[in-house]
Amino acid sequence: MIAAIRGTQDILPGTIERWQFVEATACRVFEQYGYAEIRTPIIEREELFAKGTGETTDIVQKEMYAFTDKDGERIALRPEATPSLVRAFVEHSLEQAMAVPKIYTLGPMFRRERPQKGRYRQFHQLDVEVFGVKDPSVDGEVIDLAWTLIRELGITGVELAVNSVGCPVCRPSFAAALVAALGEDVQTLCGDCQRRAVANPLRIFDCKVPADQRVIDALPHTIDYLCDECRTHFEAVRRYLDVFGIPYTLSHRLVRGLDYYTRTTFEVLAGQIGAQNAVLGGGRYDGLVKQLGGPDRVGIGFAAGVERLVLALPDTLALPEKRPAVFIAAIGEPAREAALTLLRDLRRAGVNAQVEYEGRSLKSQMKRADRLKAPLVFILGEDELARGEVSVRRMATSSQESVPLSGAVEFVKTSQ
Ligand SMILES: [Zn+2]
Ligand SMILES: [Zn+2]
Repeated sequence: MIAAIRGTQDILPGTIERWQFVEATACRVFEQYGYAEIRTPIIEREELFAKGTGETTDIVQKEMYAFTDKDGERIALRPEATPSLVRAFVEHSLEQAMAVPKIYTLGPMFRRERPQKGRYRQFHQLDVEVFGVKDPSVDGEVIDLAWTLIRELGITGVELAVNSVGCPVCRPSFAAALVAALGEDVQTLCGDCQRRAVANPLRIFDCKVPADQRVIDALPHTIDYLCDECRTHFEAVRRYLDVFGIPYTLSHRLVRGLDYYTRTTFEVLAGQIGAQNAVLGGGRYDGLVKQLGGPDRVGIGFAAGVERLVLALPDTLALPEKRPAVFIAAIGEPAREAALTLLRDLRRAGVNAQVEYEGRSLKSQMKRADRLKAPLVFILGEDELARGEVSVRRMATSSQESVPLSGAVEFVKTSQ
């Protein structure tokens, strides 16, 4: 047989209910905060991510699925949502169409990472973005939205980490301070870090190599090198978090794995799915819209991993069981026709009703009803049909009664 591709998964009944809960909760919360859903294509021009996500990031260099299409065009499967949403914002002038462009999307993303527990090559994200608001109160709102989402999902044991990574004005002096602080130590770091020290020193904080951590932990902090504007902005963001009563920790290493972030960055880490595992992360990207050919507009947003949120849901989460309200068992062809008509009427009345497709014995039909966990079974045979009635078996008590066929739909509705 042909199996699913490595790093992908089928989400089956029994698990999909938790996905549906996460997605429905997210849509409800996002809409409540005034965000509107948009959907963008899974395939985009490769250059959108080279320019947007960043040419030197691991995502673009090592992980992105890209190919040459039959007409010679370079196409990529989106590795993240933000560049696509920025493109859509610019391409459709959403600024004119929406009072405040606040948008969200959800769907699959693709990265060719080494498959490991909880990491997939096709993974799913919830993503929100706000465009055009410089004021730090919107940073506060976006973080509050993230926090509310986590709370509404019932996920506990989480930690919110925030930081400011500065702006193009103050970042060069921070990068220089990093290189100066590293000094000779740079030669003791891993090969990736040695390359980062030259190309993009901030990315050193992405390093996961245990032997490098002692040196990295001792490096200078971004917030000590912020320009006046960035410092004032970050102080205001922290003040709003206090006002909203959102607990957070300051994380000096939180620079995020993408080049476009400016000023505020944040992550929500969930303990249950392994130490330091981010279920959600985001930040401000004030230069990205312009960089992608749009007007000079600021932006801020976050992405949350659906797989990780699903893993982090409480074990006690009780989702309504999916089962029919009634099962119809019919014996003989005339009764079967009456059963199918009743089935249609029940479904049109909004009732989840099921029937046996194969004309089998009453005993095997009752077994089927039991497997489906239907609390009620309608039994229709020649006798019932002749009396214009239907026999009702309550599965919990095995008690039986008769109701008029014409009142059967109403009977189920009042029994639910
Ligand atoms: Zn700055
Ligand atoms: Zn390293």
